[in-house]
Amino acid sequence: MMLIGALEAGGTKMVCSIGTANGDVLQRSSFPTTTPAETIPQIVDFFSKFSIAAIGIGSFGPLDLNLESPNYGSITSTPKTEWQNFPLLTELENELGVPGMIDTDVNAAALAEYQIGAGKRKNSLVYVTVGTGVGGGIVLNGEIVHGLVHPEVGHMILAPMKNDSMSDGSCPFHKHCLEGLASGPAIEKRWGLSSRLMMPDHPAWDLETDYLAQMCVNLIVMLSPEIIVLGGGVMQQAHLYPRIREKVVDLLNGYVASDAVSEEHIQSYIVAPALGVNSGVVGALLLGARAVDSRKKMME
Ligand code: ADP
Ligand code: ZN
Repeated sequence: MMLIGALEAGGTKMVCSIGTANGDVLQRSSFPTTTPAETIPQIVDFFSKFSIAAIGIGSFGPLDLNLESPNYGSITSTPKTEWQNFPLLTELENELGVPGMIDTDVNAAALAEYQIGAGKRKNSLVYVTVGTGVGGGIVLNGEIVHGLVHPEVGHMILAPMKNDSMSDGSCPFHKHCLEGLASGPAIEKRWGLSSRLMMPDHPAWDLETDYLAQMCVNLIVMLSPEIIVLGGGVMQQAHLYPRIREKVVDLLNGYVASDAVSEEHIQSYIVAPALGVNSGVVGALLLGARAVDSRKKMME
């Protein structure tokens, strides 16, 4: 059986997994993200114990994903200064002696949900995580979307709600972006209470669903995805899904001519990740499998 290495590179921890090209996870270990000098050898050590055919990486960003760039596969302007301009993909490919593929953590999760999760029978999908940050991965016509860099769904500008007591969001770059208004830390800043501790009837959730519904509407009118998957820690609050769906139907006001976004069918349009908390790791495995395939094509 061919083994693939999967790295979920996060700002606080590096989760290393071994699995198969179909996304089955066999083994997992994680290390705190400190400095590259300390953390990379731990990652290399773990993967070296297995005979892996490739490494797939879903990483925090921003990343250089321009195939023409000499810095392809590097982390670019992260606030984590030790990791600025760190060539994550090249370093791991060289140290492990295997081909690799890298994408943003959310693009990896989107790929997993698209290929074997909630979007299995669709051609397009958006995956959004609402957690410490808000980020989105996009698959359109079977392709992961990249462009100038990669989409930054979490920084779309939203219309602030009149009853929002927080005048500035929590994003240091933008006053009213999605992440600044609706991430876990934004909720905590606004109410002085962790979102984990809030009961379903807390007024925070009314505002939260207003913002997440705005986000969904923007995604629908811009990209026309066939399904929207909402994951991340904040979405553990399962009562949010029906409230977001209802507000999306209201905001669209019948304009988008598809049954999928009707009151009757929206329940299967805005959904939780089918892979649960595993979308990220499965996505990294699938990226690794793609690295094997593209190496094979190169050899032909
Ligand atoms: P990260 O984004 O760091 O990868 P998470 O997706 O778990 O990790 O997001 C963490 C954020 O989600 C924190 O702000 C936390 O307060 C919030 N969170 C985690 N679990 C819950 C929960 N059950 N209910 C509400 N908020 C939660
Ligand atoms: Zn922002």
